[in-house]
Amino acid sequence: MTELMIRPSGILKHDDCPRSYQFQYEMGLRTEAMSINLPFGTAVHQAATDYLLADHYSRSCNVVDIFKETFTKEIDTSIIEVPSTKSIKDYFAIGEQLVEQFPEAWDKSGLMLCLDKEGKPIVERRMKATLAFGLVLNGQPDVVALDSEGDVCVIDIKTPAQVSDPLFLKASDQLTCYQMLLEYNASDLGIDGVQKLGFMEGVKRAIPKTGRGEGPGWEPVQLAPARDDSDRQDLIQKALEIKRQRDTGYFPKRSRMAYNTPCTMCDFRHYCVEKDASGIVFPEERESRPEPIALPASF
Ligand code: SF4
Repeated sequence: MTELMIRPSGILKHDDCPRSYQFQYEMGLRTEAMSINLPFGTAVHQAATDYLLADHYSRSCNVVDIFKETFTKEIDTSIIEVPSTKSIKDYFAIGEQLVEQFPEAWDKSGLMLCLDKEGKPIVERRMKATLAFGLVLNGQPDVVALDSEGDVCVIDIKTPAQVSDPLFLKASDQLTCYQMLLEYNASDLGIDGVQKLGFMEGVKRAIPKTGRGEGPGWEPVQLAPARDDSDRQDLIQKALEIKRQRDTGYFPKRSRMAYNTPCTMCDFRHYCVEKDASGIVFPEERESRPEPIALPASF
């Protein structure tokens, strides 16, 4: 029985399908191609959190340059899958608009950065929490902030294609994980627990071709009360179940019903269902992996 260090993203992947969790997190498999949504989200995050830190320390910060540099670096080092309805150029334009709008959206939220006991902002701070014997949660909440009531709020910055349902804010295990990480580390950080959880969503709508249409933009920050003890216990039990499956070495497939199957969107679908390993990169191959296909200069 070995220790399991689990990330919030691993818990979410296991929810989707335990076998896909096994492929990604236990066996270390990757696909050669990556959805553009991942590098896009990374680049917007980078620009947004760099802005927050620069603003706190009264430094200048060009959010568009940060976005473009990060996005370019990310897509240059991977094979990228882009939906047929958009081009990479579209994603650059959408991202630039989103990061340009971020400072105003943050101002309007009325939130201010929460500082640790050394006076440093708690932004993208990696931390661990022991959930049970041999089970450690390891994660990095995006931003810890104070609202106008002085409540400590954990904010997750997201770049969805559409606004998420308010119910999801109250159900999201990712936010529960962040709350538990902060609570476990509260005395080291010098904070008085966590009172609220929230999403700040930059919706990556297409840029309208005419003067009509909404285009990309930030939704008002949604906040919900922190989870109660039964929610915390649910999360611990869920993580313990992953550990139990790991100890037995068996992660079941979870194809579900036709209308809500995760299989059609699963990165490992050909490997899992058709036993076809083409397009899968095994850990031992990564060192000798060929360079990704370069994007044409005119993307
Ligand atoms: S194809 Fe379906 S059953 Fe197989 S790993 Fe993916 S989601 Fe799970």
